[in-house]
Order: sequence, then C-alpha cells, then structure tokens
Amino acid sequence: MLKEQKIKFGEGIISGIIALVLSAMSLLGALAFYFPDYLTTPDLRKTYSVEFIRQLMFYALIIAGGLATFNIARGLHYHGIKSRKYLGILSWILISSTLLLGANTIEVGSLEGGKPYIGLDWFILDLLGSSLIFITIEKIWPFRDQPVFRFGWQTDFNHFLLNHLLIGLMLLVTTQFIHHAFGWVSTIGIAPLLQSMPFLLQLFFIILFADLVQYWAHRGYHEVPFLWRFHAVHHSAKRMDWMAGSRQHILEIIATRCLVLVPVMMLGFSKSVVDAYIIIVGLQAVFNHANVQFKFGWLQYIIVTPQFHHWHHSSDKAAIDKNYAAHFSFLDYLFGSAVKGQKEWPKEYGVVGDYIPEGLWKQQLFPFKKAKK
Ligand SMILES: [Zn+2]
Ligand SMILES: [Zn+2]
Repeated sequence: MLKEQKIKFGEGIISGIIALVLSAMSLLGALAFYFPDYLTTPDLRKTYSVEFIRQLMFYALIIAGGLATFNIARGLHYHGIKSRKYLGILSWILISSTLLLGANTIEVGSLEGGKPYIGLDWFILDLLGSSLIFITIEKIWPFRDQPVFRFGWQTDFNHFLLNHLLIGLMLLVTTQFIHHAFGWVSTIGIAPLLQSMPFLLQLFFIILFADLVQYWAHRGYHEVPFLWRFHAVHHSAKRMDWMAGSRQHILEIIATRCLVLVPVMMLGFSKSVVDAYIIIVGLQAVFNHANVQFKFGWLQYIIVTPQFHHWHHSSDKAAIDKNYAAHFSFLDYLFGSAVKGQKEWPKEYGVVGDYIPEGLWKQQLFPFKKAKK
C-alpha cells in the first residue's frame, strides 16, 4: 500500500501552496499588464474584461497575503518543519514584487497586435479554472475517497506547470509559422468540401481523424520498447485524478501533438473547428483521468469515459496494452484492443514492476537511462 500523505488544512502546507500559487499568478498577471502584446492571447483577450482581471488579482493578493502570514506565524511556531515557513516567505517576496510593480492598478501597456506571444493570461485562467472545476467535481462525485494532495501530487503538479508553459511556447511557434505555412491548404484537396460541412459534422470528423492518428501513435508507444520508456512516465501514476493526466514525458507531448495537429491543419478544417477540437482535447484528457464515479451506460462503447481510461492505467493483467483511444472508445472495439468485461473499476494503477522514479526531472531523464535488466 502507498503511504498517503494526510495533510489537513490548517497545518500550513496547503495554505502555503495556495499562497505561493496565487502570489505567483498575481506576479505573472502584473507582467501581462505591462506587456499585453507579448504575454496575452489575442483571441482570449476579447472574452474577459481588464476589470475582471483586476478584481481577480486583488482578491488573489489578499488571500495569498493572509495565508502567507498565517503560514509564517505557524512556521515560526513549529520550528521542526521549516518548509512551511519558507513557503510563506517566498509568497511574500512574490506579493511584494507584484505590489512594487503596481499590482491591480497597473495601466495596461500599449497594444499593437500581430506580435508573437506567450499566453500567460490563458495559463492563469486555465490553472485557476481547471483546478476549481475539477477539484469541485471530484469532491462532489468522488469515485475513491482520496485527498487532493494524494501520493505523487507534487510530480503531477510540476508536470502540469511544465506542460502549460510548453503549450504556451508551442502556441507561439504556431502563430508564427503554421498559419503562414498552411494558409494555402484551405483552397485545395478536401478543404473546400470540409469547410462546406456544418460545424458539428466537421467537429465529428476532426475528432475522428485526430483519434485515429492518436490511437496508432499511442499503440506504438506501448508496443515499441524504445517508445514505451517515454510513455511509461504517463503510466507511472499510482493515483488517478484530474491532475494525473499531466504526467507525461515532454517529448511525447511534442511528438503526439505534432503528429495530430500537422495533418489536421493540412486537411484544412475551419479555424473555429480546430479551436473547438483543441478545447475538447484538453478537457477530455483531464476528465478521463478524473477521480469521478460517473456511469455512462451504453455511451461508454462510443466515447472514452473516465472508467474506460482508468482501465488503460490499470496494472491488472487483463488491462495491459488495452483501451488506447482518447475520444472514441469504439476504435478499441473496432481494432480489438478494448478491455473485456470492464464492469467494475480497476483496483491498482501504475507500471508493472514499478521502475519509474517519482519527480519531474527524474522522469524526464528516465527514458535516456540504461534499462536495468
Ligand atoms: Zn498508454
Ligand atoms: Zn492516461
């Protein structure tokens, strides 16, 4: 059995982490105010008001300040555990920097548009939004009684941050090159036919196409030993929840995204369809790992559900190298790779033999280390 960290609110760890995350977000937000052209996402900018972000930053700073102060006071009291106090001190350094920059009263910098950007606004809203939504869902309809800060959460949280930073950088590359490189395809091949279709039909085809590519890539990761060393990182999660899906090797993310997105762009789907697909991919990937007890009846034979993907992560013999699909579970029934008789939920998760180390950087290095055999 894994030793679960029983951390309770009020002991200083949770408050320290919340204070640190909120103060870091506030500092990033302040930077985004100064350099909106380079740090915010043009399309996303239209959907929120500057006033809303100012309010958000105001409350984030108050909560972070309060928690950090509490943390330092408790940290000083409990001399034995220093990290609690340092979380508070680090938070206050970030809060002070934000305040020095002007915090929520900063004038928005000049906007010219058309510049390459890293979507810090997207990163902040996504982090706050997805943690709020998924932690709430998991608390209301949990499948397993499991603390938010369960075994391995630090590793997953670090993966989560790195992945989002990486996606920000990839968007930067995309806006710079892909639209120029693939601008011409919208007029040739099946592009005109696709674009004449209604939105939902296009959406169905883009997801089907992406999942077919993704299915075989995923199967490759399982069946080619060299590739498995990268993908094993994703399977090293012993606890499943919304954050566990973030646990992936960085090269796997880049390779799979390119493998799916480049042909999707080449086929010439409408931009709104590609955007919708990117949102669905992100949400479904998180949801499929979530610790929720939803039952989908016959629908689970058509779409991938948390139960279906939890089986993919099971260390149970009957489930090894099964349930590869990410969106449409019927692909696994079609290609004969679905777990049979998966009425219940898996009991244990993880890699058989448990040879993957915990920790973000150890996992990034793992595939390049000599296999111990
Ligand atoms: Zn897998
Ligand atoms: Zn997974």
